Amino acid sequence: MSDDHDDSPIAAQVRELEALLEEKGLLDPRELDQVLEAFTAKAKPANGFRVVARAWTDPGFRDRLLENANDALPELGLSMGGGLQVQRLHVVENTADVHNVVVCTLCSCYPLSLLGPSPTWYKSPAYRSKVVSHPREVLEQFGLVLPESTAIEVWDANAESRYMVLPRRPEDTGHLTEEELAGRVTRNGLIGTAAV
Ligand code: FE
Repeated sequence: MSDDHDDSPIAAQVRELEALLEEKGLLDPRELDQVLEAFTAKAKPANGFRVVARAWTDPGFRDRLLENANDALPELGLSMGGGLQVQRLHVVENTADVHNVVVCTLCSCYPLSLLGPSPTWYKSPAYRSKVVSHPREVLEQFGLVLPESTAIEVWDANAESRYMVLPRRPEDTGHLTEEELAGRVTRNGLIGTAAV
């Protein structure tokens, strides 16, 4: 954690708290590192890919996921991860009419346990400021050109709420297994800066 270069206010508070606990002898930094390593080893985009593939193949799961993602994740042995504060995950579904894209305008909030560490551009001031005011332009910079008839909804993550996009299932994938479908999903597809 100490060598994490996150400059968000929360990260600074965590570093202060960490230093204080170490000073008081209440925290063994090696123990903390082990816990964090165990968590980050399990936090990878393949988790998000599995969630999407299941939602594409199991309409009941899709409904439960959209209704209450935190409750649905354990069906795949997944969760939003531990911590002092429960992060509420909202899964937002792309349709022909609406395309969803996720940002954290304040810092870099991100569903780490499902997507792994966030890409550098996600934390960049350019992306964070521009995607809210000019989402269509930003998506075009990512190579995603949407029809004018498709509305773009931007979701601003924060400490309590995290978002993941449920992309549209590509056409001609009826013959693919759930595992093969998971292989089609991309991290940017889960953030909304790409289609799948
Ligand atoms: Fe944030």
